[in-house]
Amino acid sequence: MEAEKCTAIVLAAGQGKRMNTKIQKQFLEVQGHPILYYSLRCFQESSLIHDIILVTGESVLSYCKSEIVEKYGFSKVTRIIPGGKERYDSVYAGLLACEDCGYVFIHDGARPFITEEILKRGLEGVRATGACVIGMPSKDTVKLAGTDGFVKETPERSSVWTIQTPQIFSYSLIREAHERIRRKDMTSITDDAMVVEQETGARIRLVEGSYQNIKITTPEDLSVAESFLTQEKIIGKN
Ligand code: C5P
Repeated sequence: MEAEKCTAIVLAAGQGKRMNTKIQKQFLEVQGHPILYYSLRCFQESSLIHDIILVTGESVLSYCKSEIVEKYGFSKVTRIIPGGKERYDSVYAGLLACEDCGYVFIHDGARPFITEEILKRGLEGVRATGACVIGMPSKDTVKLAGTDGFVKETPERSSVWTIQTPQIFSYSLIREAHERIRRKDMTSITDDAMVVEQETGARIRLVEGSYQNIKITTPEDLSVAESFLTQEKIIGKN
């Protein structure tokens, strides 16, 4: 196995129900291109990434192939595969499709604003520890809610981070963690690091992403994305 081979798993198999549109959010267009295009372009252009596995819905496999991968010449996309019911099922499908992988970058296709700098910091983080997640210190105070609707706890803001993607792991570590957790109750799993935390006890390094690396989830996120892309156009990045 090549220790350093880096594979990106890009997840685009979600239904995006919170967007309230017929088209799944990752295929909605902003500034003339589907949201999914932007993160695929970053991985395609990155010298750190060897190949990309695109995980998407069964019914849109051929759309993704012709209208995104072939149309934009994303030659690093070696597999386009169907995802599963939950996000962790889609991740697992992606992991099974990896070949000779050293490090895996698991990324939400609904986050268009990753950059080469974020990927570089992520690779440095995973090289040092085997597991790292991209995130940012929280700008807001966070409160944990009790089931009674009252505040249960207020964590100290300086120690709260909000977590983004990519989340980057040594392939053997995340694969092993998934194999183990799949035999258990996974209902509370919302990100990849949780699987590694719970199943291996490995320490996960926090690596700075950017406040621009938002996930497109609800309609107002689309306006924010439009405005980021307009700014980039003005400064000549797009
Ligand atoms: O639903 P949420 O916004 O948390 O989804 C995060 C990412 O995971 C999205 O890019 C979505 O397409 C993907 N996903 C997936 N398979 C699922 C659920 C979500 O690939 N079953």
